[in-house]
Amino acid sequence: MRKLENKAALVTGAARGIGAAIAQLLAAEGARVIVADVLDADGAAVATRIGDRARYLHLDVTSQDGWNTALKATESTCGPVSILVNNAGIVEWGCIEEQSLASFRRVIDVNLQGAWLGIHTVAPSMRRAGGGVVVNISSTAGLAGYAGIGAYVASKWGLRGLTKTAALELAVDRIRVCSVHPWTIHTPMTADMDESSTAGQPIPRFGEPEEVARMVLFVAAEATYSTGTEFVLDGGATLAAAPVPYRP
Ligand code: NAD
Repeated sequence: MRKLENKAALVTGAARGIGAAIAQLLAAEGARVIVADVLDADGAAVATRIGDRARYLHLDVTSQDGWNTALKATESTCGPVSILVNNAGIVEWGCIEEQSLASFRRVIDVNLQGAWLGIHTVAPSMRRAGGGVVVNISSTAGLAGYAGIGAYVASKWGLRGLTKTAALELAVDRIRVCSVHPWTIHTPMTADMDESSTAGQPIPRFGEPEEVARMVLFVAAEATYSTGTEFVLDGGATLAAAPVPYRP
């Protein structure tokens, strides 16, 4: 028996990287998956690769209208949503004094407001499904500070706090909400980062998108007594008193 047989799952930012791996694994476990993104060609290719359990949908997570349209389309093809993975994210570099306000807002809009809109829009659908799980992809940048990516760090700490509040508010409806905190993972987002920077950490390598996907599956299907919780995959990087420098 597969773990998510016929459950409807919506994964944002699923056209590549971590989101694509999550969509693929959830579908392999029987879920009907909406691959949502703004990269239409890549997203459609991911859905085609997964097969008839997946469908691509254009969704810019910063748009409330976009979320409303996406939810209608999802419910009409898959039924009420049981699993929402708020994975879409961007990083923009710049020390606080150097970064423009527009850049700061772009990062917050996608990484934090996008997830807020997701929960805000999809929670009623989960209620109709009889319960569900929201998995917010935060980061080790939601557990510590990193120089040069203040907006990203603020967005990922914000997402962690949003997770805990949503967990409290939605428990009554049998909806669990958890955050997942990866350290550096091999994806297009980290393509220009130097893996040798991991030499001092207990597991001295970057992680793989499939490792994050397995954690998300665990949270969605197995972690039935956890809500508001942080699930960390970092190769031990955050164990050190002085963190490994994040900047490439
Ligand atoms: P990626 O850049 O490879 O993929 C991100 C996806 O999000 C892309 O497909 C992109 O088109 C999509 N996206 C961006 N803006 C969007 C928007 N407005 N609406 C919808 N989709 C949008 O990045 P990734 O490494 O796969 O990251 C996925 C998530 O994991 C992000 O939230 C990221 O912050 C987080 N994360 C990544 C790492 C890492 O090392 N790669 C570590 C910790 C956390």
